[in-house]
Amino acid sequence: MRILFKGLEDERFIRPLQLITNLFFEESEISITELENPDLLVDFQYEYNHPFITSKAKLIDLKSGNDYVGNYRKDFPPFENEKELFKKIKQAVSHVYVMVMQDFTDITQPWGMLTGVRPTKLLHKKIQEGVSPEVAHKQLKEDYLITDEKIELMRQIVDRQLTMVPDLYQLQNEVSIYIGIPFCPTKCAYCTFPAYAINGRQGSVNSFLGGLHYEMREIGRWLKENKIKITTVYYGGGTPTSITAEEMDMLYEEMYQSFPDVQHIREITVEAGRPDTITPDKLDVLKKWNIDRISINPQSYIQETLKAIGRHHTVEETIEKFHLARNMGMNNINMDLIIGLPGEGVEEFDYTLSETEKLMPESLTVHTLSFKRASEMTRNKKKYKVAGRDEITEMMNNASTWTKEHGYVPYYLYRMKNILGNLENVGYSLPGQESIYNIMIMEEMQTIIGFGCGAASKFVDPVTGKITQFANPKDPKSYNDNFMEYTNKKITILNELFGVAKGV
Ligand code: SF4
Repeated sequence: MRILFKGLEDERFIRPLQLITNLFFEESEISITELENPDLLVDFQYEYNHPFITSKAKLIDLKSGNDYVGNYRKDFPPFENEKELFKKIKQAVSHVYVMVMQDFTDITQPWGMLTGVRPTKLLHKKIQEGVSPEVAHKQLKEDYLITDEKIELMRQIVDRQLTMVPDLYQLQNEVSIYIGIPFCPTKCAYCTFPAYAINGRQGSVNSFLGGLHYEMREIGRWLKENKIKITTVYYGGGTPTSITAEEMDMLYEEMYQSFPDVQHIREITVEAGRPDTITPDKLDVLKKWNIDRISINPQSYIQETLKAIGRHHTVEETIEKFHLARNMGMNNINMDLIIGLPGEGVEEFDYTLSETEKLMPESLTVHTLSFKRASEMTRNKKKYKVAGRDEITEMMNNASTWTKEHGYVPYYLYRMKNILGNLENVGYSLPGQESIYNIMIMEEMQTIIGFGCGAASKFVDPVTGKITQFANPKDPKSYNDNFMEYTNKKITILNELFGVAKGV
């Protein structure tokens, strides 16, 4: 689809308009200046006339000559600077653009004009500002064109989060920790995580673990010295259980020695994502160190699918390892499922749900397949046949109905660009078994310090809430060469962040 926009000179409009266009068309070309043979012409008008911003869009289908018009008016109190005003104007322009595109395509965008990753943050912000739930819901609908159904989902999620973590808005002076172990038995086709096939890399694994122990010791010392508590710890990757039981044992011992007050950390999760890495020895180690929560990820219960996406384990192995973990006392197990894997439709997904019923893990994360730029699947997109928008929506609805019928509640969600059907990933859980780390990462209420490969630290200023990111390298070699430098940089940032907050 080729779309020419009129009435917008400022280049800062291009990105939000492109993101919205992507919600409607898989392939498109847009321009605010000129374009040969456009299919659509969208003429915008906007104005700030204190105290209102008004915007109007007229979309003309140049093939049929049909047109569609959208109008919007929003009161806007005095603003501090041009940037703030432009942000509001951009929202007003995006608003009318979504209106006319919905009319033209007959597609209702469930998330309206939102293209961001964390819609629930909007609702938390309103609650923190003291807006009543009714008014907040009305504003979400009117300002962002979110459907009632998605607003209800946001409401349920925010309620669950505040039930599980009643002091969520007061945790800014604590931190959570993410530890990235960048190894897996083999690489899956859709994967963009830092994950290197572990076989034949023992040298690299040893050096990596050396660096990781160093980071844990040094930052752990800083946390102790500054009396900063840890709320949650999450081992991800890669697959943290792809290292040996002895290596895991030493790592958790380091955690207990170096981190402050480990007994009072609210939750420690280890992703044991790939069932082919789980052994009785490793489960013993997890139990020994009181790891609360693990993840065993089937993704699908269809063997052909697992083969097609490069997961070299069997469906039986997932089930068998789940029972093994259960029998060995693991009582908080998460399982990840993916909607829209190649070759899968409603029937296959329903089958996966019916298999899940036999296991009833404490939590279930339902992802929708996303074509991330760096994955093998995206590079060879033609090779993989995936379901269309309507079928994806049906599967999503089935997941929502199924989880409800089986006693699960939604407790976090996030969205991604290029996600099939422009839907979302939802974490469901049996009430009381929600992952606190997942809530922390989604709602960005506190700093999360990343250790290891590909671990992105997110520093949230305890006073202003401003977020600064810092990423460790993705590949073990760069990490092994420079881990001391990365550790020092993070300590410098932490000093600034918490020093200011305490008035030091
Ligand atoms: S198991 Fe997870 S991290 Fe490892 S390759 Fe597969 S998707 Fe990537």
